[in-house]
Amino acid sequence: MAGRIKDEDVTYIRDHSPIDDVVADYVQLKNAGGGQKKGLCPFHDEKSPSFHVTPSKGYFHCFGCQVGGDVIAFIMKLEHLTFTETVERLADRIGYTLRYEAGGVSTGPSINRSRLVAANTAASNFYQEQLQLPAAQHGRDFLTKRGFDRDAAKNFNVGYAPDEWDGLYKELKGKGFTDEELNLAGLVKEGSKGGMIDRYRNRLIWPVKDISGDVVGFGARKLASDEVDTGPKYLNSPETPVYKKNAILYGLDMAKKEIAKSRQVVIVEGYTDVMAAHLAGVTTAVATCGTAFGDEHIRIIRRLLMDADAFRGEVIFTFDGDAAGQKAALRAFEDDQKFVAQTFVAVEPNGMDPCELRQAHGDDAVRNLVARRVPLFEFAIKSVIANYDITAAEGRVNALNQVAPLIGRIRDASLRPEYVRLLAGWLGMEVDIVSTAVKRSGKPADAQSDKRVNLTDPVMVLEREVLKVKLQLPTMAHSWVDLEPAAFSFPLYAELRTLIDNQKEFSTQDLLEKCEGEDLKSLITELTVEPIRTDGEVSDRYITSIFARLREVALSRSIAEIKSTLQRLNPVENDAQYQEIFGQLVGMEAARRVQKELALGES
Ligand SMILES: [Zn+2]
Repeated sequence: MAGRIKDEDVTYIRDHSPIDDVVADYVQLKNAGGGQKKGLCPFHDEKSPSFHVTPSKGYFHCFGCQVGGDVIAFIMKLEHLTFTETVERLADRIGYTLRYEAGGVSTGPSINRSRLVAANTAASNFYQEQLQLPAAQHGRDFLTKRGFDRDAAKNFNVGYAPDEWDGLYKELKGKGFTDEELNLAGLVKEGSKGGMIDRYRNRLIWPVKDISGDVVGFGARKLASDEVDTGPKYLNSPETPVYKKNAILYGLDMAKKEIAKSRQVVIVEGYTDVMAAHLAGVTTAVATCGTAFGDEHIRIIRRLLMDADAFRGEVIFTFDGDAAGQKAALRAFEDDQKFVAQTFVAVEPNGMDPCELRQAHGDDAVRNLVARRVPLFEFAIKSVIANYDITAAEGRVNALNQVAPLIGRIRDASLRPEYVRLLAGWLGMEVDIVSTAVKRSGKPADAQSDKRVNLTDPVMVLEREVLKVKLQLPTMAHSWVDLEPAAFSFPLYAELRTLIDNQKEFSTQDLLEKCEGEDLKSLITELTVEPIRTDGEVSDRYITSIFARLREVALSRSIAEIKSTLQRLNPVENDAQYQEIFGQLVGMEAARRVQKELALGES
């Protein structure tokens, strides 16, 4: 509820909620002498009682796990409620109407939380009765078709909103609820002809409970065809003083104990998925109600998984493997990563949700889906890799270039080496290469090892491109063997070329082991991961063209030298030599024309 509860009301609730009464709802207490009572501690596993309650003072203390406090602390800890929620709950228990400090959002003088919860509870009971009537046969058929029998429907309090304008309204008016209360609870709305009408009509109804088990709202599934019912497939309660969709997780009241105990929560998509999961034995399943999983949901889950001050446990999302799921996963690298490190994804390869999976393959299949979870980071990285054909060197390099920055963005630095190692395995690449790609992705572009090279010079860019192709896509670098001896003019590039040509068989790992000097070593890893500068795909045509351009440049350089030699020779005195060199010049000019045509893609 809005606002802060008045201090004197908190004191009143504490004084009027005898701790031994409240504790007795959860723990069997025996007299321990000296006005004390004791029992088995609900906060830790034990065989002999070390949990003590002192009714005269209003305190409890466990000598086994050192947990202690007053009656409010006991309920907060046991039920995983906030302070306000706990006081409200204790107030309901003794029928006391709380007063709130002014300044919060007022809910009006005559409305209090327990009236809204009572109206919702009465509505839920009405809907459940309606599901048993002959008019609800199609609703029961819907459940049967999805693998939910009568017991399952009963356990989850599934109901049916009759195909009438004001069935619920009349029922609840008869129970003494006012129009204002029913409207505020989101159960009815004003009709177009005036007067109140039911919010849900001819729909299956799931009551939505808050963490303490109070009914606070509903989810309603359409049963009629789209022509008859033009509303959305699922209708959810509007925002009310007790129903805040951003802070509600369907199934949490049932799942909270198991979530806290097993330190695991499974987030599924909808009401039927929660049912299917629980029936299959995944009793930690919850779902958001018509909204994305957000910050407030995270806050609630954290409170359940919080152990002392540390957050431990697993948050498992069931995604269908579609684009939306992948997009959500990629956001993991941007949001609050404290939570993400413990986040896992369970993906059903055929795109089935837990409800469909249970129908098709039974309870085991749902449990296996959860057991096969993978860390969110892994899921996101593999989603990116899946866009490339990594059986080809080209695909591996492109995938690496996409994924490396993601690993660089994992905030927990201790996780990065692990993902570098994993990525190397997924891509079938050397760990060194992947590691360099990740490091490089986090650095500005001017951190190049060959910083002496002038990359505004198109010839330097060209030499670099050809080396990148040789390192990244060796099987596509057919023309490498034809390159002129002086093809590389930048000394470090020429050095790398010599190193490559001295190898029996091309291998980047071998190059890294053989090379001497840090400059050369870092040049190798750098050129192995730097994206090849093409607008589109790295094609055979593109590679042919840059090799030809490099050869053309090298031949031009040689031609210029030969021409200057010829100018220095006297053709009359050195006729034979002159003729030989002139012959070379003619051959080079011809070779250059061929390369020029190749470079332009004209042959
Ligand atoms: Zn204890």
